[in-house]
Order: sequence, then structure tokens, then C-alpha cells
Amino acid sequence: MLEGVVPFPPEDQKRWREKGYWQDKSLAQEFAVLFERYADRVALIAGERQYTYRDIDRITDNLALNLLEIGMQPLDRVVPTLPNVAEFVLLYVALQKIGGIPIAALVTHRYMEISQFVKLSGATTCVYPEKQGDFRFGPIIERVQQESPSLKFRLVLGTAGPGELSLTELIERPAKLARSELDRIAIDPTDPAMFQLSGGTTGIPKLIPRTHNDYAYNSKTAADVCGVTGDTVMLIALPIAHNLPLACPGIQGAFFKGGSAVLSLTTRPKEVFGLIQKQRATHLKVVPAFLIRLINEPSIGEYDLSSLRLIQSGGQRMQPEVRLRTHRLFPTAFVQENFGMSEGLLMFVRWDDPEEVKLETCGRPICPDDEVKLIDDEWREVPAGEVGELACRGPYTLRGYFGVPEYNARQFAPDGFFRTGDLMRLHPSGNYVVEGRGKDLINRGGEKISAEEVENLILMHPAVENIACVPMPDPNLGEKMCAFVVLREGHSLTLNELTAFLMDKEIAKFKLPERLEIVPDLPVSTFGKVSKKALAEAVAKKLEAERTAKSL
Ligand code: AMP
Repeated sequence: MLEGVVPFPPEDQKRWREKGYWQDKSLAQEFAVLFERYADRVALIAGERQYTYRDIDRITDNLALNLLEIGMQPLDRVVPTLPNVAEFVLLYVALQKIGGIPIAALVTHRYMEISQFVKLSGATTCVYPEKQGDFRFGPIIERVQQESPSLKFRLVLGTAGPGELSLTELIERPAKLARSELDRIAIDPTDPAMFQLSGGTTGIPKLIPRTHNDYAYNSKTAADVCGVTGDTVMLIALPIAHNLPLACPGIQGAFFKGGSAVLSLTTRPKEVFGLIQKQRATHLKVVPAFLIRLINEPSIGEYDLSSLRLIQSGGQRMQPEVRLRTHRLFPTAFVQENFGMSEGLLMFVRWDDPEEVKLETCGRPICPDDEVKLIDDEWREVPAGEVGELACRGPYTLRGYFGVPEYNARQFAPDGFFRTGDLMRLHPSGNYVVEGRGKDLINRGGEKISAEEVENLILMHPAVENIACVPMPDPNLGEKMCAFVVLREGHSLTLNELTAFLMDKEIAKFKLPERLEIVPDLPVSTFGKVSKKALAEAVAKKLEAERTAKSL
């Protein structure tokens, strides 16, 4: 097993196998069965291109062999910053065939994040588009390579420059190696098939090992709960490598049932509606921020969206009025709340749940052996009906982040329960209600920002003496980030200057603060810690006052 991965205890492994949750197959072995069973069905649609299961199998055999030929090996870690293109899926499947481990990076990530992921994982390979808008990845990946001895391969989607190899060519060029080379690769199903990323409670992101056994179970079971069948057409417009669009049930869940996945490069409502209409999409995965844009699109009535059966919303809490409006606008679809986390545990509201469960809760876990506790600071369970922090354990929830034993000692109890940082209440129906969170992050339209990560960067600014980043309410995104800054004497700072400073640090744009408040000092709680709660309340109040003033 890859060093740094925390294994599930042997007695639990035995139990998950006996119960059939773990099949002890690699994802590649699982996929092989599907590729044969559903060979002639359409598996993937991306733009004008369409792939059957047989096509995917053939193309990814070829790509996998070419990856071996250039020198990639089992357990190689790979950082793909690709948009929602077919090549991501082809790469993902080919990596599974050689036992490689993709990391759930995003096309919006920049030098700061990519270099962190490469260092944290010891990645051998980065895979990236030539350009994303005006941004060219090549030069920054070259810099990452100069600083990271593990990074051997730079694979660009498109034409290769000096030092790069072309992913496009590796997909298309007939492989020299024999197919039997793939059969010789032994993959341990308790090894990671994927590293998801934690929004995390501390500055540096954490890598979440999702093993072959647990990730396959995760997708199959989520597919059952979401009514995925061979007739499913699943539209994927959210960033493709995120856990929910990839595996909950996502692309992987659609594959397990012989359905099709349709990739959208954009979340622009008109284009998404156009795709739903054209491809007769049955399943749509959203975060509430995206859903709000969809239901506010004035031309919604011009499209035939009657193929939709399920709109699955996760990543953020959905406001009841958003759900009700969605029901009205998409009368053929069940609007399903889903609480999920890249670390594992998934909760869903079910199709046949009573109305009050659908309206008030985020559902319940998908596996009878998911163990859920709501606890206080001392790991003691709170009385039923009271708010506590969600702690969980089960056959697809991690037992430790990759390579961070000290952090793990804080987040995991000795019996394996994982402290999530989410605050919940048990609903009398046995479902759960999200009541907020204790962790120090901003949930911007489902994209998580670690406050501490951005604070550490802002502290480097010469004008800044102290800083606290907090969430502020936003009607569309749910939350945005506000930076409270205490200035050094005689200095000034504007939001534009702060933005320029952070852009210079080469972070993803979605992590930029969208409001700056200059304050003489930061409020502290009775324990002497900065009271972020007080700051979040202060900015929420200010926003409310500004809104009222505007409407007068
Ligand atoms: P991620 O690992 O990026 O999917 O983020 C997981 C986190 O998103 C959870 O720990 C929650 O804080 C939040 N989250 C996910 N689903 C929901 C939901 N339905 N309601 C409220 N928060 C959610």
C-alpha cells in the first residue's frame, strides 16, 4: 500500500467484504466488466463527440499503454487541471488501468495550488490545457517542475512545446506496447484510486485517499439511491473532478449502470438548458448557487426540459424557497437534497420520503453501516434533537488524510470516527438537518475556501498587521469572503490593491476576498481567540443596512 495512506482496520475490512460492500476489485477491473456488458451503448457525450463503452475501453487501453511507454508507473500521482472535456474521462480511466492516482484539481487552480498538490502527493505528472481563457498553464507548470524533483511529465492537451508531451497525441498515437502489458499490472484495491481534496479546516489542503474498494461502492450505491439506470443521461456541468460530479453518483455512477454522461464546458444557463433539451438529460447535478442561476434565467420557458427526472443538489444548503421555485419550474423532476463530502459519507433524501423530510432535511446516509454521531467538543454525543458536530465512520469514509499523522490525531478518534466540522441536528424522522459549521472555511457557491490559507497570504502584505477572513451572506453564491484587516500604522489598503497582491501570489481567483473592512482591531472571544462569529455577524448586518438604504 502507498506509504502515507491510513488503512481501514483489518476487522472492518473483513466486515465490508462479507457484507459485499467491498468487492476487492480495482476500478479498472470493475470498469472492464461494464465496458463489455454495455459495449454498444453511449457512455460519454462531449460537444460533438460521442463515445460508446467499447470506444472508451479501446481508447483508454491505447492511452494507458502509451502512458506506460513514456515511463509512468502504478501509484504515480497525477495532477490534472482540465475542464469538463472528454479527455479528462479518458485520462481518468487510463490511469485506473495502470494503477495511477489522479488528484481532484480544478482548471481554476493556479501555481499556488498546483505546486502544493504536486508537493503533497509527490506527483510525477501534471496534465493541463494549453490555455484557459487568456491564461497559459505551460510556464507555471514548468516552474513547478523546476521546484519539484518528483515531477517528471508535463502533458498538455493540444500541441506540445519544449519539455512537454501532448496528451492528445498519446490518446491518438497507436501504442507500441502489447495489450498484455496492462494485464501484468497488479493493483491493490485497498490502495487509492483517487485523491480528493479537502476544503479543510487549516491552511494547507489535505489529500483524501479514496480507495478502489470504497470508491466503487460509493458510486454504485449513490447510483441506486438516485435511480440511475441504463436510460439515465447525466448532465455534468460542475467541475468534473469534484467528488459529487465524478462519483456521487456522477460519471462513475452512470457508468456502473450503463447510462450516459454528458459533459458541459459551461454553467451558463442557456447552454445548459440547450444541452438538457438536445440530449434529453434525465439527471442534473447542481450546487444551489448554480441552481439559482438556472431558475432565474428569463428564457427558461423556451426550452423543453421535460426529460429531467432528478435535480440533485449538494455542496451547500439549499434554501426552501429555491427548492419550491425549482419544483414549480421543473415539474417532472424530483429536487433532491444531498449532503456529501469528499471524505466519504453521503446523505440523500429519498424519492419516496414524506414532504416534510424533502423540505426540511438533507436526508440520511446511503449505507446501513454508515455510523453517524452528533458530538460536543469532548467527543460526547449530544442529546437527540440538539445540535452537535457530525462525526462519522463507515465503509467509504476515510480513516486518515494522506501523510499528516498529527492532523489526523486531532480529526479522528482512536476508534476511527472522523470529526467533520459540520453542525447538524437529528430530525424526528431519522434524517439530518444541517445547522451550520464549526470549521473555518467559506463555502462560495459550493467551492470551499480555507480562511487560514488566504489569511496567511494576506499577512505577507506590508500594510497588514492582522487579518481575519470570514463568510458574508450572498443571495446567489450563498457565501462570499470578507477580509477584516488591521493596518500597520501609517499604511492604507484598498480592495483592488489587496486583490492585485493576492493575484501576484498566483492563487485561484475564487479564493479572492470580495470585500475589505479596515478595522482598528479584531474582536476576541473570552478564550482570547479572534471571534470570527462576531465579525461575520458585523458584516452581515452592514450588508443588510446597505441593502435597506439602497431600496429606500
Ligand atoms: P466537499 O468535500 O467539497 O464536497 O465539501 C463538503 C462540505 O460541504 C461538507 O462538509 C459541508 O460543509 C458542505 N455541504 C455539502 N453538502 C451540503 C448540504 N447539502 N448542505 C449544507 N452543507 C453541505
